[in-house]
Amino acid sequence: MAAIILIRYGEIALKGKNRHQFEQQLQNNLQEAVKEYLGTVEKIQGRFLVQVPKENLDFTLTRLRKVFGVVSLSSVKETTLELEAIKAAALEMAGRVRAGENTFRIETRRSNKNFPYPSPELNGIIGSYLLEHFPDLIVNLDHPGFTLSIEISSEKAYLYLERIKGPGGLPAGISGKALLLLSGGIDSPVAGWLAMKRGLALESLHFHSFPFTSQRSQQKAIDLCRKLTEGAGNICLHMINLAEIQKEIKAKCPEDLGIILLRRMMLCLAEKLSAERALKALVTGESLGQVASQTLESIAVTEKATDMLILRPLLGMDKKEIIDRAVQIETYDISIRPYEDCCTLFLPRSPVTKPKLEAVVNQERKLDLHELTSKALKSLETVVVKRQVT
Ligand code: ATP
Ligand code: MG
Repeated sequence: MAAIILIRYGEIALKGKNRHQFEQQLQNNLQEAVKEYLGTVEKIQGRFLVQVPKENLDFTLTRLRKVFGVVSLSSVKETTLELEAIKAAALEMAGRVRAGENTFRIETRRSNKNFPYPSPELNGIIGSYLLEHFPDLIVNLDHPGFTLSIEISSEKAYLYLERIKGPGGLPAGISGKALLLLSGGIDSPVAGWLAMKRGLALESLHFHSFPFTSQRSQQKAIDLCRKLTEGAGNICLHMINLAEIQKEIKAKCPEDLGIILLRRMMLCLAEKLSAERALKALVTGESLGQVASQTLESIAVTEKATDMLILRPLLGMDKKEIIDRAVQIETYDISIRPYEDCCTLFLPRSPVTKPKLEAVVNQERKLDLHELTSKALKSLETVVVKRQVT
C-alpha cells in the first residue's frame, strides 16, 4: 500500500508566471528526490502530494525535508470528502496517539469552498465525535497534547498529526546555475547551501595542490558536495591542481602578496570553467573582515581578476552564525576533519591587508598567466557527486 506525504511550499510574494515556474521546478526537484524510492509527485491546489510504497516512507521523509522550496511536510491519511470517512480516519489516528496524550484540538484548512462544512464547524463535528469515543480526552485549544489537522482539498481530505519543517526558500535551479568555489573549510559549503536556498543550482570547483596536499583534501570536497546534494540533487564537482601556480608565485613574487595572487588565479580559472559550462555567477564563502584576504581592499583587488558576478552569501554573518548553520546542514563535521588546504601551504607570515591593484598587477606580469592557467586546466578532473541512497 502507498503512503502519502503532503508538501507545503511558500514564497507568497511569487505571482503570475513566476509562481508557475516555481511550482514546476519544485515538482521536478521533488520527483528527482523520490525517484529512487519509487515515489510519484502530484500537484493539488497549493500543495504537492507524494506517494511512495509504505516501506519507503521514512527514507522519503528524510529526503524531502531537505529539499529547497519545501516549507513543511506531513505524512497524511487520505479519505474521500464524505463526513463518515473523515470521522473514521480521525478516530483511527486519535486512537494511535491517545495513550500518551489526553488533550487535543482539531484544526481544519478548507481550500475547497464547496465542501459543505466551514472549518470551525468541521472542527466541532470531528472534536465531538472523538470525545464520544474517547471520554477521557479533553479539548485544549492553547496547549494541546496533540493536534489533529484536516485539509479539505477539491477531491479528498487529508488528516495528519505532525508537521515536519523544511528549509523553505526557492527550488534549486529556478534562479539559474552558478559555480561554488568549495574549499575544505567551514564557510564555503554554507555559502553553497544558502545560494541553493535562493534557487541556484550549483556546480562546485575545488582547488588542491597534489602532491603537496593529500587525496584526503579532495575526498573532503566530495563528501561536502554529497551533503549539498541533499537539497538539490546531483552536483558536478570539478577539481583543479594549483601546485604549479603556487610554486611559480612563491618563486617570483613577494610573499606578502602570495594569497591575493593565488586567489586571483583561482577566479581566472573559475571564470574559464564557467564559460565552458554556461555558469552565470561565482559563489564564495568570503565573509567581510574575517582574515587578511577578506578586508574590503583585498576583496576589491581579488575580484578585479574577473568580470563575473560574485555572490558572497556569508557577507553579513558572524563566524558563530556560520558554524551554527554548518552544524544544522551537517557539513560541520566534514569541514573540521584535519586536512591540508592548498592556501595554507604557502601562507605568508604577514599578508598585506590593504593591497593596491597596481602593485598586484605588476607582480602578475612576472608570471606567464596564459601558460599557467592552460596547464592548470589540463589537470581538471570532474566527478558527478550523487545523492546518497540509504
Ligand atoms: P572556507 O571556510 O570556505 O575555506 P575561509 O574563511 O577559510 O573559507 P579563505 O580561505 O580566505 O576563507 O577562502 C575564501 C573563499 O575562497 C572560500 O570560502 C572559497 O569560496 C574560496 N576558496 C578558498 N580556498 C579554496 C580552494 N582550495 N578551492 C576552492 N575554493 C577555495
Ligand atoms: Mg579556507
